[in-house]
Amino acid sequence: LPERVDVLIVGAGAAGLMCAATAGNRGRSVLVLDHANKVGKKILMSGGGRCNFTNLYTAPENFYSENPHFCKSALARFTQWDFIALVEKHGIPYHEKTLGQLFCDNKSKDIVDLLLAECRAAKAQIRTRCSIRNIEPLEKGFIVDTSLGPVFCESLVIATGGLSIPTMGATGFGYDVARQFGLNIIPTRAALVPFTQHRRQLERQGELPGSALEVTASCGEGSFSEQMLFTHRGLSGPAVLQISSHWREGQAVSFDLAPGRDLAEWLRERREQNPDSHLHSALAEIWSKKLVQYFLQRQGVESRALKQYGEKALAGIGQKLQTWQLLPAGTEGYRTAEVTLGGVDTDEISSRTMECKAQSGLYFIGEVLDVTGWLGGYNFQWAWASGHAAGEVA
Ligand code: FAD
Repeated sequence: LPERVDVLIVGAGAAGLMCAATAGNRGRSVLVLDHANKVGKKILMSGGGRCNFTNLYTAPENFYSENPHFCKSALARFTQWDFIALVEKHGIPYHEKTLGQLFCDNKSKDIVDLLLAECRAAKAQIRTRCSIRNIEPLEKGFIVDTSLGPVFCESLVIATGGLSIPTMGATGFGYDVARQFGLNIIPTRAALVPFTQHRRQLERQGELPGSALEVTASCGEGSFSEQMLFTHRGLSGPAVLQISSHWREGQAVSFDLAPGRDLAEWLRERREQNPDSHLHSALAEIWSKKLVQYFLQRQGVESRALKQYGEKALAGIGQKLQTWQLLPAGTEGYRTAEVTLGGVDTDEISSRTMECKAQSGLYFIGEVLDVTGWLGGYNFQWAWASGHAAGEVA
């Protein structure tokens, strides 16, 4: 006879564990299955080991989806403040790093421990190293064939995440389940991912890898003012990861290398104060010498005494350095991407409960859905909120 549970959750990541604790607290019998050897692997590696678990300023505008309204209901019913309250309840020390991003003071494992403690208190069971072989819908409920034996459940929650970092256990399982039930899938692509550059571009960068600067990166409708980092393979840093979510193959990305200032005007002032100073020395007040040399060379600007530039020349230099165009060769792809854009079409899902409209008892939560956050703790907040929404009804 199959084991019987009220709620079977596939995927013991951020969304799945939150859902398990929430459903268990309602008195539902809950079983969570994961094929990995331990739970919450992405949480453990997140935020550079300190888990950026939410963002103080979380709002629906921080998410990409074909339906930008879809995330509103769940985010409003389990907010960043609700998660912060949990973190405080468990006495986990945390701090705001920048732009509302909350990180653990110590380690990401604190968040996994929090989720496991909540699951234990809610009597939710968790089993790892378990794969799912088949899902059969019944008139009411499902029979799920697993490597640990068959399970009957009333509600089946798919929380298997996106495609990023396959070495951490990411699979397309959630999309396969969606296809089995005839659901539409918004095409997926890697996001929050570094750009790669062609060999020739990399050669020109010479000693730059490791250098960082503040920029405004723009592409399509996206624009982000954060740090950019030169790497041995291309470009990274928060500004680049953020803009990668807007980038499509073949598109150029525009970088303002001196965000927040009118560079031509600033150079005019420098010229007045110190007409004999050279352009490169003036710019070295903003960037490192290496970066000044690189950008002037790349943009074909010769460094002379400031007094030798007329108005038009300064305006031209300002323009060149505030709209640096770069054509990335590509991205690092799912190998290093933090998230997957696209996923199960939200038109198929109730925004209040995360239940599939066409298949009662089947739920999708977290990153497997076509809801993707910006960099900065938003993706976990979506996992908590969608997991909570399903946990309240499943
Ligand atoms: P996941 O947390 O990925 O969980 C999915 C679970 O399903 C996994 O345990 C997996 O083993 C399991 N699974 C997959 N396939 C199967 C299968 N076939 N059978 C059984 N189980 C399966 N977001 C932030 O908000 N802040 C951060 O600081 C942050 N840092 C990140 C750093 C890195 C390097 C990466 C890769 C991502 C980061 N993210 C961050 C994004 C965040 O980790 C994800 O958006 C979030 O974990 C998604 O939650 P989820 O529960 O939907 O999926």
